[in-house]
Amino acid sequence: MRRLRKAKIVATLGPASSDKETIRALFDAGVDVFRFNFSHGSHEDHRTRYDVVREIEKEVGRPIAILADMQGPKLRIGKFANGKVALEAGAKFTLDRDPSDGNDKRVCLPHPELFAVVTAGQNLSLDDGKLRLRVIESDDFSIKAEVVTGGFLSDRKGVNVPEAILPIPVLTEKDHRDLRFALSLGVDWIALSFVQQPEDLHEAREIIAGRAGLMTKLEKPAALDRLDEIVQLSDAVMVARGDLGVELPPERVPGIQKRILRACRYHGKPSIIATQMLESMIHSPTPTRAEASDVASAIYDGADAVMLSAESASGSYPVQAVSIMERIIIEVERDPIYHKMLTAQHGIAQMTQGDAICAALRHVSQNINAATSVTYTASGTTSLRAARERPASHILSITPNLTTARRMALTWGVHSALIEHDVADVDEMVEAACRVSVAEGFAKQGDLIVIAAGMPFGESGSTNLLRIAEIK
Ligand code: PGA
Ligand code: MN
Repeated sequence: MRRLRKAKIVATLGPASSDKETIRALFDAGVDVFRFNFSHGSHEDHRTRYDVVREIEKEVGRPIAILADMQGPKLRIGKFANGKVALEAGAKFTLDRDPSDGNDKRVCLPHPELFAVVTAGQNLSLDDGKLRLRVIESDDFSIKAEVVTGGFLSDRKGVNVPEAILPIPVLTEKDHRDLRFALSLGVDWIALSFVQQPEDLHEAREIIAGRAGLMTKLEKPAALDRLDEIVQLSDAVMVARGDLGVELPPERVPGIQKRILRACRYHGKPSIIATQMLESMIHSPTPTRAEASDVASAIYDGADAVMLSAESASGSYPVQAVSIMERIIIEVERDPIYHKMLTAQHGIAQMTQGDAICAALRHVSQNINAATSVTYTASGTTSLRAARERPASHILSITPNLTTARRMALTWGVHSALIEHDVADVDEMVEAACRVSVAEGFAKQGDLIVIAAGMPFGESGSTNLLRIAEIK
């Protein structure tokens, strides 16, 4: 089984996509990475979904990546007695520390730190900025506000306070529990929310201790001031446009999205564009023209992956949303302009043996019209550096390491394949590359393939070998 496209699809699982049949249908429709959103659901919910994804992985014989997205210090309101309320502009509404269910006059805001820093006149954005309140007065127990922009407000929606600096660490107590739980399950990626500075990554990096990739969600304006450092310290980056577009005016998001993609491409770190990509498909079986254009633009700009949130987690058309994303990606990748744009955006290779080999991999594979480029990798580094080159061919990433195979599912152009035993020498490696290329549908007898690898095998960062092989 192989995908026809190079950019990847991340889909969030939730109440609309928790049974095995739906998750399998999502995979079949094109999902490469399943996202577990730890802002919602119990550990048992996540464990059940984890087991289902791994069962499907076994059935389809393809490595699948699972991304555990930590809630981070995201402020959320509590619950309502009836699930949601309608707030009208001009009405008064109170956020307080009373944990009982809310109504159209008040709701719980379970973040004690906030009451001390919010002051009269500040704005509170609710539900990704859909509703806006202005603070009238606040004390240690409650924040009384006037509704400026009304609408429906439902359980556990997000609250942003763009004008206040919040004295809270990037990993909350809940995140610590969730992080340890997610690692105990064996997830492949951990996403950290609301990173503000490079130092925020240290603690998570220590706890993860190599067991998963570390993905930074860029959704705070402060993080953009030190973008390069943050990208370098991360294994992947998510452009989290939901909160980014609440913390900053929405007109600034498109330019920032492009800037982040460029930094990720330069440093060779996988990038995900997230949030509201096909938002209208929560309720409709087809996207708007603007949404189709948004997904296409992200691909033209060189993103590794595009992501679905509520569309697949709680919407009415999760599988259709994935199918449409897939069709949009395939269409862009067919466009000759796309390849010109990727080439135009290409940053110079670093002066390392690995980058020299990967640049050569791209050129050689194009010159001899190779059926596929192959990377033989232990840690995934060779595949990442090859993907950074954005070659015309797919990158068949062969590894004896299951963790690497799964993690690479997020990376542009990379098709991971797991081999059972590490190879002993170059001949065995070439033999494995040829065998897997045929088995995975990338090459047939008489085709040429180009292989990049590092010797000694199994040593990360040793990429130093390029080999052309003919399929016998
Ligand atoms: P969230 O992150 O869905 O966890 O808030 C994505 C975003 O903010 O865009
Ligand atoms: Mn967010």
